[in-house]
Amino acid sequence: MAHTPEQIRTILAAEGRKANRALGQNFCTDGALLASCVDAAGLDGLPVLEIGPGLGALTAPLLQRASRVVAVEKDAALAALLPSLLPSERLTVVTGDILRTDVGALMQGEDFALCGNLPYYITTPIAEQFLPMLPRVLLLMVQQEAAARFFAAPGDRVYGPVAILSALYYEAARLFSVPPGSYYPQPDVESAVILLRRRDDDALKALPAANAMLRFSRTALSMRRKTLANNFPRDGRMSALLAEAGLDPAVRAETLPPETLAALCTAYSADDARDVR
Ligand code: SAM
Repeated sequence: MAHTPEQIRTILAAEGRKANRALGQNFCTDGALLASCVDAAGLDGLPVLEIGPGLGALTAPLLQRASRVVAVEKDAALAALLPSLLPSERLTVVTGDILRTDVGALMQGEDFALCGNLPYYITTPIAEQFLPMLPRVLLLMVQQEAAARFFAAPGDRVYGPVAILSALYYEAARLFSVPPGSYYPQPDVESAVILLRRRDDDALKALPAANAMLRFSRTALSMRRKTLANNFPRDGRMSALLAEAGLDPAVRAETLPPETLAALCTAYSADDARDVR
């Protein structure tokens, strides 16, 4: 149920409003594209947490596939409006900032899918907050530049925690490019729809805990020009682990593939655990 630009202007004007650019409000006007995205995600029966439902363009197809949709919207006026635009017992609208929301409580500890046409100004914080939670599926519409962060390879300028977690814990695919003309108001750049599906339990068991991996990647890459070892406490432990792994002691983390960083994270955490005992 995507609206046309004219309809969006009318709905907002009735509230005495215009789209709020500071909140990244670029409403999607391509209902067919959103329906295709939701179909491709294969959400059947999963509860969905939607980030930034706005006027419900994505919420509508999600409601057709998901067992229920919990939609968190920071703009209180839009959050108040949404239930009247999309009346459904399976929709819960929460007013709030997604980065400060207790998601565990909202999703009642159930496996869930995370979906959203993301406000561009917080795409990376959202990714870093949610990737370690290991939702079963993530279906995200993001600006092209932000999409690149999910698929970056070692050595790429934007290779970092988002790419590392995506590669390790998920099968990730770019579904569609979306031109600026598919939004109102139009953003300056192209967007992309990306789909991440959590790897199976056996694959996950062989990996460090996703939260530990996020912390490790952040530390390893905190000063990109420094060597990996120098981004850790200078107690010789990381240097010893690099030597054990047969890696150059002066290696920089940004050149190492996710699997190597995961192995180092596991070894470093095991070392930590020995220290504690
Ligand atoms: N889902 C709608 C669509 O596709 O047309 C709107 C997408 S618009 C790109 C982003 C939405 O996120 C807006 O409704 C905006 O108000 C909301 N938003 C911005 N910052 C947010 C935050 N921190 N937490 C939750 N929602 C936020």
